[in-house]
Amino acid sequence: MKIIKSLDYNPFPIKGGYSDQILRVDLDSYTVTPVSLPLHFKEKYIGGRGYTLKLIWDGTSEHTRYDSPENLLVMASGALGNEPRFPGSGKFIVGTISPLTDTFVDSNIGGHFGPLLKLCGFDALAVSGISNKSVVLIVDADRGVIEIAAAPSFNDIADQGALSYGEALLREFNDGELNENIAAVTTGIGASNARFGIINSLFYDKRRRRMRSKQAGRGGTGTVMSFKGLKAVIVRSSRTKVGSNNPVDDKGVKQAGANLKKVISLVDPQQFRLSDWGTPILVEYMDKFHILPVNNYQYGQHPDAKNIFADVFLDRYFTKKKPDGCYKGCNLACAKAVDNITLKYGPQAGKLVSVDGPEYETAGAVTCMGIFDPQFIVEYNWYCDEYGLDTISMGVTSSFLMECVQRGYLKKEDTGYELGWGSIESADRLLHETAHGKGFGKICGQGVHRVKAWVAEQYASKTGLPIDQILTELDKFAMETKGLEFSMYITKESLAQQGGYGFALKGPQHDEAWLIFIDQVHKELPTFEIKAKALKWFPLIRTWFNAVGLCKLPWIDVRHPEAANTDNPAQNQPTLAYYVQYFNATVGCNKTLHDILDDSERLHLLQKMINLRHGKGTRESDRIPLRAMAPVFMNEYEARSDYYDSWLKDQVGEEKLPDDPQAKHRLIIDLRKKAYEKLCDAVYEEKGYTQDAIPLPETLEKFDLMDEQARTLLVSYGLMERERLLSN
Ligand code: SF4
Repeated sequence: MKIIKSLDYNPFPIKGGYSDQILRVDLDSYTVTPVSLPLHFKEKYIGGRGYTLKLIWDGTSEHTRYDSPENLLVMASGALGNEPRFPGSGKFIVGTISPLTDTFVDSNIGGHFGPLLKLCGFDALAVSGISNKSVVLIVDADRGVIEIAAAPSFNDIADQGALSYGEALLREFNDGELNENIAAVTTGIGASNARFGIINSLFYDKRRRRMRSKQAGRGGTGTVMSFKGLKAVIVRSSRTKVGSNNPVDDKGVKQAGANLKKVISLVDPQQFRLSDWGTPILVEYMDKFHILPVNNYQYGQHPDAKNIFADVFLDRYFTKKKPDGCYKGCNLACAKAVDNITLKYGPQAGKLVSVDGPEYETAGAVTCMGIFDPQFIVEYNWYCDEYGLDTISMGVTSSFLMECVQRGYLKKEDTGYELGWGSIESADRLLHETAHGKGFGKICGQGVHRVKAWVAEQYASKTGLPIDQILTELDKFAMETKGLEFSMYITKESLAQQGGYGFALKGPQHDEAWLIFIDQVHKELPTFEIKAKALKWFPLIRTWFNAVGLCKLPWIDVRHPEAANTDNPAQNQPTLAYYVQYFNATVGCNKTLHDILDDSERLHLLQKMINLRHGKGTRESDRIPLRAMAPVFMNEYEARSDYYDSWLKDQVGEEKLPDDPQAKHRLIIDLRKKAYEKLCDAVYEEKGYTQDAIPLPETLEKFDLMDEQARTLLVSYGLMERERLLSN
């Protein structure tokens, strides 16, 4: 590779989980600068998402968009990342200003990259600027050098049997050898043509003897990477992994990890069985409880769903290799994979490939288009990863377009071909066109929010109807909030998950509040007040996982046997005690769960302030489409009329139940809208916000976040004036 810039450095030692260094790279000037962090930085911003938020809060402005040179692409693990003795320690965060939401977005991602970046001596990498040629960043602790190199073309380096650009690049870099001391992040051609580009985290799986990948899927981080001209980042370190975090209390770390591993081994085989089945196990549950998205979330169940239950993937597709974790030491090991499958569809039909996944979300993205073919799901997964496209946003945008066709807003002359439910042919064609920015794919690649505006314009020009009137109708079933497409859970019957999506700061992604299962399936949030409290508590604990470099699944998907004896079994506090122990033992402090939640609240508020700065932080931005609350059209009501009639009877009493189905349908919509508004009121109060969802000055002051920028922002929303008046 032709080196453009090179800097010798001494990899910084890790102590108590931190190196206290970040690496800044500017692609306008091709400069690389290791920067020492002041001591208070980690105390206040913790790591991972916290570091990413603070760097973006300070380094960007309300004018920054995804393609602005000053936009930052930040990758950061956390103090608890890179500890094979504790399950789930391979996670890191990628954060940026999103091309979909125009505000902060981040996505957590597994693999070896985060731990290796830390072993290279950096708690975070922050990339600014835009290179006018494709480049590769290399952080090589073994040689003690950081380099920016001109990105070679695939044809220049593909002579060693590599299946993908990332693999070819790693072979080229590492003298043809793949091993666990190297990793890379890359994206693909789709990320340069669509707003929902992903970042792939490539790591070597020695059991399968091949490169595998995990994805930062949400919000278009890959689109930003591609726009910056950053083709890949390679990290290499041969430092030993176990114990290299240099925890303050090594014995405490060992004990916390052993405790958690024991619970996983004991409980997972009795509960979700993720280590056997992976996340596709959720398809069956979701179908059973009417939560699996079908035909753009119109229905939550389908007779053909059994074609894609986990046993089908297990028997026909997954190659069993246990443990199958995305980082060393995870005995929950849910990262299932398909080895050596011949593609049937698309431009690469006939090619032998290996696929990482599918996860539940990818299966749901395909059922959302009305397709229940396991082979297509596996291939859709492979193509999306290869192209660098988010399986969720791709599926939801395609589904929205299909519903626009169903309801007459689009015709064949608009799309160029039939775009209908259950058609593999059209879904496949749209995927490849989107990846290459061709034909109707150019529209699809904009994501639901922008596609909605385009459809409204087209329809207005044909019908003469006012655009606003058309948009009001489209808003009902356009499954996006804040510009991000919904992830794959139907929320019509779970008020808690409606809030989980609506209040999620990055947009409707379940990693902030996955409450659907405990609310709708386990019925563990029975009252309005409990739901409102859960909508504060769960996002905070989940924020903490994203700040410290850990996977949440060993906590949320494996219920400790002792949890049943606690006041709030859904919080799974006996397991959280191991996490608190692990944090204290690593960092050398004595925090309680309460302290940890306070730390998270600061980060959560900072993210809220970035949203406000970018015009995405008020109550208006928390609105969810009607489809997320209620059956929008009569066909949805009629598909479950017995259930809805019974629900209505409970709400209004038999004597007030209308006879007319249309009237019943209208009443459901009315009640659901009111319930969501009431939920907003309660949750905002719980969080210390105004009724317009703006943090009160005292809330920011409590967490020491009232800097000059925050003050100016609150003044612009009329809050400081309010405070002054109150104090008078
Ligand atoms: S539970 Fe699954 S996603 Fe989480 S660290 Fe383990 S293998 Fe990775």
